[in-house]
Amino acid sequence: MIDQLRADVERLRQGAARLEPDSAERRAIGGQALDHALGYWDEVETASSNRPWSEVFSQRLEPEFAEEGRDPAAVLDYVGACIDAPGFATTSPRFMAYIPGGGVPYSAFGDLLAAASNKYSGFASASPGAVRIENACAAWLASVIGFPHDAAGTLTSGGSIANLTAVVAAREASDPDGGGAIYVTRFAHYCIDKAFHIAGRGRAPKRLIATDESYRMSVEALEQALEDDRRSGVRPWLVVASAGTVDTGAIDPLPEIAELCRKYGAWLHVDGAYGGLFALCDEGKALLRGIEQADSVALDPHKTLFLPYGTGAALVRDGRLLQEAFSASGEYIRPLGESEVGPSPADLSPELTRHFRALRLWLPLQIAGIAAFRAAQAEKLALARYFHARLSEIEGFDAGPEPQLSVVAFRYIPKSGDVDDFNERLMRHIQQEGRVMMSGTRIDGSYRLRCAILCFRTHLDHVDDAIDAIVRGVKALS
Ligand SMILES: *Cc1c(COP(=O)(O)O)cnc(C)c1O
Repeated sequence: MIDQLRADVERLRQGAARLEPDSAERRAIGGQALDHALGYWDEVETASSNRPWSEVFSQRLEPEFAEEGRDPAAVLDYVGACIDAPGFATTSPRFMAYIPGGGVPYSAFGDLLAAASNKYSGFASASPGAVRIENACAAWLASVIGFPHDAAGTLTSGGSIANLTAVVAAREASDPDGGGAIYVTRFAHYCIDKAFHIAGRGRAPKRLIATDESYRMSVEALEQALEDDRRSGVRPWLVVASAGTVDTGAIDPLPEIAELCRKYGAWLHVDGAYGGLFALCDEGKALLRGIEQADSVALDPHKTLFLPYGTGAALVRDGRLLQEAFSASGEYIRPLGESEVGPSPADLSPELTRHFRALRLWLPLQIAGIAAFRAAQAEKLALARYFHARLSEIEGFDAGPEPQLSVVAFRYIPKSGDVDDFNERLMRHIQQEGRVMMSGTRIDGSYRLRCAILCFRTHLDHVDDAIDAIVRGVKALS
């Protein structure tokens, strides 16, 4: 019986052997994969920023998942033709749609190292070094926005989960039984509503606060709403302010809002997924004054620190409140997390076992240095002003208000015909051409094109390219 079992196990081991390539094979496959990535980066500068969907099916794997493995070269070929090529190239310096970050290459190496060592970053006891750098990253992000030393933070998969994490912390700290009112503007990102729903506050009383001519929350309207609620016996719970809206990059008047929150006892959450990290550069820091007075902030290093997608951060000014919101149900494991390397990520987030995502943030900061990030951010802010100034000089364009951050929402006013229709066609024309990618948005019913300059690879010549593409588009459609 034992002999039979031994024979079976040996046979199964042979069958599973492909899961562990030997050293020579690892080097061979690793080299092929690395060459693939390096080749991709070599072409980023010239490659189209938007390619046809049909390329998804330019090759087929039949069957898609085979019993026996395939030649790695053939698999990488498929990845190049059917995954890398079609659709948006968010890595392109000419990708100015949505909020692009570009994805600094050092992060890809960080991901590789994290996956190779497969460190368990949930608990300090399992991986003290991994937890230490995760806490160091959170502390560094907190220091960028000016939070005090007893703030705490957690790295999330992105801004949506960062906002959700903060809303849950706010709920546990100041609205555990519900009934408190929420204050937002119509420019709040839609993930904020989603967070309220997931956090069980989708039906909380919600006040839509008016905005001023620069699309920022009106302090007078907020005060009025808070006062009205207090008078009628509704408790103000949560004000969600924006540090850079996706539509126009507007930053709400944070110091004034913070003061009102203190006066009325409301939690101030700042959605800084797009704009918050501009606090790293001097100019951004001045624009974001007051963010340090928030109770919680959501950030997205995969936007404004140019990392590849999958990195957000939730920060809570009084760190204990983050821990109280997320470690309560796991009391039995908490003592494991107490150590000199700081709290365990599992006690600060809804996740337990998770990707060791700190390395993709920590490694680029180590190798490139903070100054490079700071300069890149200042460059993007200057490029947005340059784009706006150039467009303002060309006849027929309504360049919109001067950009606060790196997004410009603009339109062309044709001599005749429907303005919205013309601009929608203009956007499609530019996207189809595939040289420069932009997106569109509706602000108060009127359609605008949106140029978001946030890829770390985007420089002066690419912004000139964008202007040329827009002017070409107008000529073609006029
Ligand atoms: C991008 C963004 C979000 C959502 O973040 P994800 O990383 O896409 O989940 C939320 N708020 C603002 C202002 C954003 O720009």
